[in-house]
Amino acid sequence: MAELSSALKQATPVLAARGEGVYLYDEDDRRYLDFTAGIGVTSTGHCHPRVVEAAQRQVGTLIHGQYTTVMHRPLLQLTERLGEVLPAGLDRMFYVNSGSEAVEASVRLARQATGRQTIVAFHGGFHGRTMGAGALTTSGVKVRAGIGPMMPGVAFSPFPETYRHGWSEAEAVRFALAELDQLLLTVTSPKDTAAFIVEPVLGEGGYIPTPPEFLEGLRERADHHGILLIADEVQTGVGRTGKFWGHQHSTITPDILITAKGIASGFPISGIAASAELMGKAWPGSQGGTYGGNAVAAAAALATLDVVRDEHLVDNSAEQGARLQEGLRKVAAEHPVIGEVRGRGLMIGNEFTTPDGAPDTATATRAHAAAAERGLLLLTCGPAGNVVRMIPPLIVTAEQVDDGVALWSEAVSAAVNG
Ligand code: PMP
Repeated sequence: MAELSSALKQATPVLAARGEGVYLYDEDDRRYLDFTAGIGVTSTGHCHPRVVEAAQRQVGTLIHGQYTTVMHRPLLQLTERLGEVLPAGLDRMFYVNSGSEAVEASVRLARQATGRQTIVAFHGGFHGRTMGAGALTTSGVKVRAGIGPMMPGVAFSPFPETYRHGWSEAEAVRFALAELDQLLLTVTSPKDTAAFIVEPVLGEGGYIPTPPEFLEGLRERADHHGILLIADEVQTGVGRTGKFWGHQHSTITPDILITAKGIASGFPISGIAASAELMGKAWPGSQGGTYGGNAVAAAAALATLDVVRDEHLVDNSAEQGARLQEGLRKVAAEHPVIGEVRGRGLMIGNEFTTPDGAPDTATATRAHAAAAERGLLLLTCGPAGNVVRMIPPLIVTAEQVDDGVALWSEAVSAAVNG
């Protein structure tokens, strides 16, 4: 008899049987308010009827039309629809299946296009678990420990963190950009540097919104030195932060934009967008894969984008995100163990801290478990696992937000007293 690998350790004991909207149901039909959205994936909620219908129709028509052999309509339609939401100038798409693969594709493109090797990533960043994307990832030791050597040609620079250093945003940005300038003088010369890769909100690293001035500082340096700027929007894209793309909280446009997760409501498809000129520098045959741009996933992505537009989910993300943050701040005000509530749109973290300012992983872990016991599914993140994060589907209503806050309040009280 085969069993699941112990590497697949679940954060909760829930055996999910079905999903509907913001709710997951277990095999005993117990209902959970799902504020994890499959780690930011089920943007339109579980099994949105329009996504289900589009996927079912496509399954009966053409499941797989391998895109280096033949093209199919769903991928063309998806690309055309993405053209309506992508930043001006980023008008070429390339598709794969997961966030990590799209990160790999962006690194391949950046290196081929510039003829340079080094990719600069930022402390606490998460870009995936493959050997290339994992090499760019420092959000925790688990992704790297015991599996190196990782992909060479990576350098790291500090992310502008305010809370943990007690700095203002301006101080944090000044420090991080000065460190980056030093890195470009010492560790990697600009002429060897292919790209900066950055998350518009540091995700697995602790749900820390990237200050717009930092992105703007990166853009300036990238332009000056001919370095490419890659925005990893795997978690922040498709309305998650209250704008369609996370980088739109700043004035910059990236050279390469990576999208995955929320784009197809749970079907595996991801992609990179770049200008025609840049994408044209990829060497033929050097990118691709058997399943990339799968027809069913593309049809589901197209339906997802339609739902996001027709149900005004980007605005809902901004509105309900503000309501959720306000509610969570009230809970934090009653419980000093929550040192900071932060985020953008429906991507919100609650950082647990001991009275002397150290990460309080134990209480965060208890609060996470106590929430699940009460029917509220959440995730933790941050290098110490002391940030409890909330990423509800973008369809979440004000009432569901309030239900979530009430359950969270009970869970935190239980964690603090337990
Ligand atoms: N980049 C970011 C910003 C992510 O949050 C993630 C996944 N959490 C990835 C890349 C990797 O995506 P995947 O797990 O689909 O490979």
